[in-house]
Amino acid sequence: MKLSENAIKVLEKRYLIKDENGRLLEDADGMFHRVAKAVASADAPYVSAAELQVLENEFYDLMSNLEFLPNSPTLMNAGRPLGQLSACFVLPIEDTMEDIFETVKNAALIHKSGGGTGFSFSRLRPKGAAVNSTGGVASGPISFMKVFNAATEAVKQGGTRRGANMGILRVDHPDILDFITAKKDNADITNFNISVGLTEEFMKAVAENKDYDLIDPHQSRVVKQLNAREVFDTVVDMAWKNGEPGILFLDRLNKANATPALGEFESTNPCGEQPLLPYESCNLGSINLSLMTKLTDKGPVADFERIGAIVKKAVHFLDNVIDINKYPLPEIETTTKGTRKIGLGVMGWADMLYQLNIPYNSEQALALAERIMNFIQEQSRKASMELAERKGVFLHFDKSIYKKQGIEVRNATTTTIAPTGTLSIIAGVSSGIEPLFALSYIRNVMDNDELIETNPIFEQVSVRQGFYTKALMRMIAQKGTIQGLEEIPAAIQKTFVTAHDISPEWHVKMQATFQKYTDNAVSKTVNLCNKATKEDVKNVFTLAYETGCKGVTIYRDGSRDMQVLNIGKVN
Ligand code: ADP
Repeated sequence: MKLSENAIKVLEKRYLIKDENGRLLEDADGMFHRVAKAVASADAPYVSAAELQVLENEFYDLMSNLEFLPNSPTLMNAGRPLGQLSACFVLPIEDTMEDIFETVKNAALIHKSGGGTGFSFSRLRPKGAAVNSTGGVASGPISFMKVFNAATEAVKQGGTRRGANMGILRVDHPDILDFITAKKDNADITNFNISVGLTEEFMKAVAENKDYDLIDPHQSRVVKQLNAREVFDTVVDMAWKNGEPGILFLDRLNKANATPALGEFESTNPCGEQPLLPYESCNLGSINLSLMTKLTDKGPVADFERIGAIVKKAVHFLDNVIDINKYPLPEIETTTKGTRKIGLGVMGWADMLYQLNIPYNSEQALALAERIMNFIQEQSRKASMELAERKGVFLHFDKSIYKKQGIEVRNATTTTIAPTGTLSIIAGVSSGIEPLFALSYIRNVMDNDELIETNPIFEQVSVRQGFYTKALMRMIAQKGTIQGLEEIPAAIQKTFVTAHDISPEWHVKMQATFQKYTDNAVSKTVNLCNKATKEDVKNVFTLAYETGCKGVTIYRDGSRDMQVLNIGKVN
């Protein structure tokens, strides 16, 4: 197995089984065997013992070859007593004290098990509204969001991963301006990503520069009006200042709802890629595209045959996870098994483009993205149809859009593009569909010692073409880009672009292209340089809307004191 030192460190810290003294009881290979065995066991009622063993070996190969990895909770918990395997949850928040605190408790249980939670606060009555039972006044959605935030903080101290939340408020909620500015002070509400739920009606009012209605959800009546452009500009201002809030096109999410009869999407999971109904959960997995190329006499090309074979096995894997999963609440088990949603996506996309000599910011890259994701969506649906033939369609199939189309599937959705924050470290590839942030990093190892880490594909090419020197890699790490470096051939500069070499428009176009063939949503951050203006942010939001994205998140370099990735320095 070709795991990097970094990958092994991550696995040892949080994924591998340890005894009470912190001694490791398995290695990475043991983890993959444990997970493969547990996930294959869902087929026991359908196949012979010999066939089950073949399946287990297949699942093991899939993971240990790093061709496909399931989301972190599956790697951490499969085949262990906790057994909670999903990354994504959405919980409802109704407008009563009992309900709010019931959800605080449920969220804590989910965080403890490694999952992330999303909530819509839109049903809560606004700040200052009357509370009948006490004669007092309501404190509003933002104050309750702070309660959820504090609970998450407390759980974080005991769990294996820090909890993550998504908070959504509809743009027509009376407290919307407070919500938009809720994270102005970076030290506040740190365990939440926040997004404003935009409606079609609102977007129309922005286009026409009109006022729109704010509605008190408790009384279902219009209480105020605001100018849509001013509200939109406030979102832009805040996002420009520190990357939040993001935006989410609620009506668009619901247009793609495969089971509208079961309810409406009000929220997504923490990173925005998975819209879910209240109490629904979803498990994700990602194909490692950096391994899906082959050499032909015309040069390297994408290996569709191999992708197809992996998709088929991965869908089977993710569908099995639903059966062996130990759900944190009975409602979550019932809802999840009712639709059997899975989210297969990709990682290593930028690495694949490097291998194929295709610049991320090119029509050629969009064309390939389109072919690959279209293929994955088609093949994953086909795999779900084959599973349905063998094991049956999902429980609420009759209430789904597939019934009318006469497509008998086992899963209400099959595709999602996750951020793959940790999975990509384990696989040693670029994350999700993001471009690389830098080609080279300086890592401080000991007091004065430093280690220069270079993207392996770039390193290979630079050695092969004879321009590799340690000093050059060091300079690249400091500069953050190879654009304009005369030591490097122009063709290489063109292919090996990084996040800040790519204009925001190309970031959005790439997201939109993947979204076109993804049932759920796409996790992507549009990276802007520090000098980007508010107008640039506004253009990104508008373009995301026009190109069919389900939402968008931006980040302007240097706009937060604490940022995860820095050019020129690594923590
Ligand atoms: P991974 O690479 O660890 O599998 P991703 O970065 O792809 O995870 O994130 C996928 C989803 O997993 C997120 O949208 C969120 O729902 C959940 N998640 C990620 N990180 C956390 C965390 N620290 N705590 C709880 N949930 C998380």
